[in-house]
Amino acid sequence: MPGHPDYWIQIVTQPDFLALQQQLLGHLEQIARERDPFWRPRVISMCSNISKPSGATGAVRRFTPFNSGGVPFITTSWMCRGSGRVHRFMAATYDAVPGTRGADDNASGIAVLLALAQHFANNPAPDPIRFAAFDLEEMGYAQCGSAQYARDLGSEPIRLMLSLEMLGYRDRTPGSQQYPLTGLDRLYPKTGDYLALVGNFKALPDLLRISHFMGKQVPTWWIPSGFKGELIPTTRRSDHAAFWDRGDRAIMVTDTADLRNPHYHSAQDQINTLDLDFLTQGCLGLIGALSHL
Ligand SMILES: [Zn+2]
Repeated sequence: MPGHPDYWIQIVTQPDFLALQQQLLGHLEQIARERDPFWRPRVISMCSNISKPSGATGAVRRFTPFNSGGVPFITTSWMCRGSGRVHRFMAATYDAVPGTRGADDNASGIAVLLALAQHFANNPAPDPIRFAAFDLEEMGYAQCGSAQYARDLGSEPIRLMLSLEMLGYRDRTPGSQQYPLTGLDRLYPKTGDYLALVGNFKALPDLLRISHFMGKQVPTWWIPSGFKGELIPTTRRSDHAAFWDRGDRAIMVTDTADLRNPHYHSAQDQINTLDLDFLTQGCLGLIGALSHL
């Protein structure tokens, strides 16, 4: 019924589950592979092609090369337009530990980033969403692309930054979920079958709202991490940390990495270890949440 809040929830366009899953698998197969000289340009070109202007929705792209130890690397970003002024910001890192294919870490995050960009290029969210693919997250905070990018932003405001970390590993075995602090296992599930939202105190209203909408698709738990994550240092281990340090609202979306996935940073981090239903549910959950932010 028009006018009833549920009506507005129903009209949010959701992609077909199986079509989205095929799209995500296609992205994973391009990205999660042995690194060859063409791997990095291939990821960049996927990012540049995904949100070309379509219909009434335009997209702009910006490629920012940066230097790390004298070697040029690239952060690529582009934007899906909306009518508001302050950007939502979605990002994932695309590098991987040498010697691994990085299927979960972090081809899964980039696959979801590309699927979200495709969706919101065709179905604009209320406010513009900027997407970015960062390089060199594995090199550590000082050299990573997200820290460079956050510095380049200067005083430009960001409404909310979401860092898409490893999103494709689920283990339904009881006891499969570990935690970085004793006591957390009494507050959170012992089974690794959920996505976690880790945000700073400033982002608390967004944590609640996003977990509400993501929870319609996949079990979702939120974890506040105050003082820029210094109280639980493991919560700083991704691209959102540079935005916490900038004073922005920022949230990491994650399958909790090595606290669940035994293939973390190993040659076994391959597509056949991922749960594609789980990845697709997470992507649908993010589409629902971003449509309502
Ligand atoms: Zn990693």
